[in-house]
Amino acid sequence: MSRYLARYMVSRYFSSVPSRPLHVCVVGSGPAGFYTADKLLKAHEGARVDIIDRLPTPFGLVRSGVAPDHPETKIAINQFSRVAQHERCSFYGNVKLGSDLLLSELRDLYHVVVLAYGAESDKDLGIPGETLSGIYSAREFVWWYNGHPDYSGLKPDLKSTDTAVILGQGNVALDVARILLRPTTELASTDIARHALSALEESSIRKVFLIGRRGPVQAALTAKELREVLGIKNVHIRIKESDMSVTPADEEEMKNSRARKRIYELLSKAAAAAGTSKSDPDQRELHFVFFRQPDRFLESNERKGYVSGVNLEKTILDSTESGKQIAVGTGEFEDLNGSLMLKAIGYKSVPINGLPFDHKKGAVPNVSGRVVSQTLENLSQTEPGLYVCGWLKRGPVGIIATNLYCAEETVGSISEDIEKGVFKSSKAGSKGLMQLLEKREVKKVDFSGWEKIDAKEQQMGNERNKPREKLVTWKDLLAAAAAN
Ligand code: NAP
Repeated sequence: MSRYLARYMVSRYFSSVPSRPLHVCVVGSGPAGFYTADKLLKAHEGARVDIIDRLPTPFGLVRSGVAPDHPETKIAINQFSRVAQHERCSFYGNVKLGSDLLLSELRDLYHVVVLAYGAESDKDLGIPGETLSGIYSAREFVWWYNGHPDYSGLKPDLKSTDTAVILGQGNVALDVARILLRPTTELASTDIARHALSALEESSIRKVFLIGRRGPVQAALTAKELREVLGIKNVHIRIKESDMSVTPADEEEMKNSRARKRIYELLSKAAAAAGTSKSDPDQRELHFVFFRQPDRFLESNERKGYVSGVNLEKTILDSTESGKQIAVGTGEFEDLNGSLMLKAIGYKSVPINGLPFDHKKGAVPNVSGRVVSQTLENLSQTEPGLYVCGWLKRGPVGIIATNLYCAEETVGSISEDIEKGVFKSSKAGSKGLMQLLEKREVKKVDFSGWEKIDAKEQQMGNERNKPREKLVTWKDLLAAAAAN
């Protein structure tokens, strides 16, 4: 049979015959989940897509991760809402895979299960003192200021110290630094959670240190975000000029990457300008510190169990065989005091029962989105009907748009498997899911429930001159979704 004919027959099988729809469940309603759903709906007229999420609200990282002062990034929500309202798509929030439902049950109900639930945990430094109070992961802090219902009660102490130390120099570190330093009058008109705005208004933090274990050429940030943080009103930038010297290996890195070169130039310019600013105790300062890696956190003598600083080891760079320069400790140490420590060293995905997981990479082993159950002599055996997309597939790197390409690849694999005739058996799909959720008394929130939350948040925001005032507790979210 020709390839064309095979494709035609498959599309007839799943596209035009209403009694044989392709039942798809996407787990996770962030960008990876929605882009996957969108592409599947467009590619297969017979596909019926259910998107489930453990939160009552959709949009994942766009709602809980994107900084409140980046409203332009949140515009993706409009496209995702259109997908959710598609006649062959449904959203069911407040449904947790792993407790309300098992992965094996989902796989029994659907031809295709795409896991796109992101990275809801954090990498550890694995150094002494990491459990002291006053140390948070950037994710926890971000979820706090974005009103995520699991972290709205975090209450980080912004009043007992004038110094916050952020470990890591990626874009998440920059987001956190910006929120700590930006005038609160500018944040007041964003969708920042009310509790966070109040805490920031009373904050005594004046100095923020961004600590990188490598140099200015290797900083993991992007130029647009760097320019933004360098331009915050009334913030003095501090960078030691000695940190800005470059080696031939750095020159080589910059030669190979215009982005790296641009970042280095922006930092150099800021370092040169830094020397001319006056010192004032109330002055807000952002310090970029390079070539330092955290060695241990220091416990306060006055407040047992609380952090009072971090001991940093100076580093130099060493070239690896791949050409990458890595940080190596020199055995020289120094302390940096501060009782608010934020670890912005990367997110981590969480495995669930029955799912193969690469703990080192913090992602699910996969071949072009197909979940790999085992690899023998370079031959990968994949799990039929089980796919991944987004940070769970690639590890926690990349911006929202990266998920477009990621979803395209995963949906490409699904389409190939459809052509191969992998999904022959009939499945219960949505109907089966509804029966199971009802039996377990799971109070699912469908898209109309989210629309009620949305309307309430927008109305509360209206009263305060904000785009929305987020509901930040499970109780309030579920009550708003259930309101008449
Ligand atoms: P990231 O870009 O991977 O940065 C992690 C930072 O932590 C790097 O500076 C890294 O240094 C450092 N680090 C990692 N392990 C460390 C350790 N053991 N000790 C000391 N330092 C350590 O991660 P991210 O900032 O969480 O961002 C995740 C992704 O989201 C990125 O792709 C980012 O661009 C994206 N994002 C984009 C935006 C935006 O576009 N506005 C906003 C937020 C996030 P090394 O480089 O030496 O490993």
